[in-house]
Amino acid sequence: MKNEFIPALNGQFFHYSKNLWNDYIDYKQILISSYPYMKYQKIENEININGFKIYGDSGGYSNIKKNLNLNVKNVLKWQHHNTDVIFSLDYPPTKKDPINIRYKKYEKGLENIEYMINNKIKNKEYYACIHGLNMKELKFHYENIKIDEINGFGICELTNHETNIIQKIDRLVLSFYLAQNKKIHLLGLSSSIPIAIAFLLSNRCKTSFTFDNSSYSILGCRYRQYINNINTTPGYNNLILNKNCNITELDCDCPICKKYKIDEFCQKGSIAGILISLHNLYIEIKRYENLKRIIKNEDEIFKFLKLDNKSKKIKERVSFVFKCDDLEKYINKFYYV
Ligand SMILES: [Zn+2]
Repeated sequence: MKNEFIPALNGQFFHYSKNLWNDYIDYKQILISSYPYMKYQKIENEININGFKIYGDSGGYSNIKKNLNLNVKNVLKWQHHNTDVIFSLDYPPTKKDPINIRYKKYEKGLENIEYMINNKIKNKEYYACIHGLNMKELKFHYENIKIDEINGFGICELTNHETNIIQKIDRLVLSFYLAQNKKIHLLGLSSSIPIAIAFLLSNRCKTSFTFDNSSYSILGCRYRQYINNINTTPGYNNLILNKNCNITELDCDCPICKKYKIDEFCQKGSIAGILISLHNLYIEIKRYENLKRIIKNEDEIFKFLKLDNKSKKIKERVSFVFKCDDLEKYINKFYYV
């Protein structure tokens, strides 16, 4: 069973990390989104990604958020030219959408899945993106997909604010239950509780999954935040490395921290952000390996997640997943619409 983190490529990385990346890790998988990269017909001319397995996000979120009016044919064409794993072009719902608009979006997403299935080519993997703000909507998606025609599912609404943490746990359970041995990719998954739940479920169902996020480089490039502790939730208690910081030494033995001096992490310009990001990436991968090791011990999981008494409902869910031998029991207990 192999669960893998796929780093998502962030814009600033694109132009500067060509050499650093290959220098640094033998990690050869990355997620690239059609937006903004569709402007490059051949992405490997722009970045040193020879030998990488490329996960091709359709750009559905940016399409809605930025009103891009992406065309399903153009997106699939770009994915076929540039990527190995293809996610269907989707239309993410928002809480503001009334139910009829949400279903219109789902129907359009399902049409695109159909289009993708009808235009498959050899040696690619095809993932259907699954949406829904509640269990009923999620089920609607699963029930309308020709499951034998696809390789896997891309599970959405795990990172945005449209769903709360309980809903995220529920959608993970339902997804692992309904995926029927197909592959699972969790799109944009960065918070600790859903990640831990996914590891637990994978252990339960013997289904492996992949997940991506770009938080390592958003923290590094945009905010100059250096994750200084493997046990720290990304985004909290990070060091800020810039011209004004008084840090004289970095207590880390990752290849980047060993190779570069503290001044290089603190200088102005993009390179420092890239260095911090590459360190963050190293720490994130370590954290996930760590999580894999503790996943059979409930107390360790609670400790890892720092769940206190305020999170009674979340604890109940996590505990139920931990002990549950049959996911149907979970669904019967917590199913809600
Ligand atoms: Zn480091």
